[in-house]
Amino acid sequence: MKLDKKDIRALTKEQLQHFFVSSGDKAFRGTQVYEWLWNKSVHTFDEMTNLSKETREMLANNFVINHVEVDSMQKSNDGTIKNAIKLHDGLIVESVLIPTEKRTTACVSSQVGCSLDCKFCATARLKRMRNLNPDEIYDQVVAINKQSQLYHNRKLTNIVFMGMGEPLMNYNNVLKAIEKITSPEGLGMSSKRITLSTSGVPKMIKKMADDQVAFNLAVSLHSAIDEVRTSIMPFNATFTLDNLREALAYWYAKTKSKITYEYVVWEGVNDQKKDIDALVKFCKHVPCKVNLIEYNSIDDGNFKQANTSAINKYISSLEANGITVKVRRSRGKDIDAACGQLANKS
Ligand code: SAH
Repeated sequence: MKLDKKDIRALTKEQLQHFFVSSGDKAFRGTQVYEWLWNKSVHTFDEMTNLSKETREMLANNFVINHVEVDSMQKSNDGTIKNAIKLHDGLIVESVLIPTEKRTTACVSSQVGCSLDCKFCATARLKRMRNLNPDEIYDQVVAINKQSQLYHNRKLTNIVFMGMGEPLMNYNNVLKAIEKITSPEGLGMSSKRITLSTSGVPKMIKKMADDQVAFNLAVSLHSAIDEVRTSIMPFNATFTLDNLREALAYWYAKTKSKITYEYVVWEGVNDQKKDIDALVKFCKHVPCKVNLIEYNSIDDGNFKQANTSAINKYISSLEANGITVKVRRSRGKDIDAACGQLANKS
């Protein structure tokens, strides 16, 4: 008996075909298995019904299918569903299904915990435990797509990398997952419907631009003044706004794709005229739009969402300068499923 069976999903299609050929079967068998694993996303070899019983047993003797499982599910009054997803080593990440009138969005995680230390984010308190591998990212999307069809009678329309973790600190795996999500052999979704949200790692933003990725980029800005940003997002001391701005200009030059800035306005942090002026100035460098997002409390009392009048001042200044701004309401707050609240509370 083999103790450590290999995860069959770590094999490429070509490797699977080769495996069958070298065990005296046809390459075509590898293609069939690949379809079961990815397109149909089965969890057991027994479900591969167009293979003989012997072939299924042979596969089970040689491989395992490491799949994630929905460990628990919470439903919000607004239809949002938060999933605790259990990985094969028992660690948990969270993924959220967010239905609106026109869309169903999956918010997926890229790491277990996070290595960054944004002061306002619950995930930061978990620290980074490990990166997710490409299938663990892909599987979250598959699981949410199934829920979308089950509870809302329609397929997933959008994906945002706004769950746990910093996607650009796990770039290769995120990219591989996106390749599978967009491939016809995977889910066949359009890159245009995928948004990667980053706290802003300049070197990696440039790398993405060089890779000519076709998905959308969102940057969690929250302040365009270095001292303020560093006080709430300490890694800004290393990846300063100057570096970020330069990387974003590079991104736009290469991709011609507008950037979305995510921005929360907090009382006493970034609610003054100087904060607004700095944001307007920052926005003029590279074509962009601004999403003002609601603050979701993480129960530490250190941050408080600014009042409506402060937010309205942001809106009027941005609009007066021709910058598109939207106010984004949070979803799933009652079950701690909103941005920044993912921390495996349950
Ligand atoms: N690490 C990535 C993606 C995960 S966070 C990033 O930083 O973009 C997803 C979004 O939620 C980011 O814009 C982040 O700044 C925001 N966020 C984090 N904590 C929040 C909170 N408590 N309330 C509202 N938004 C929050």
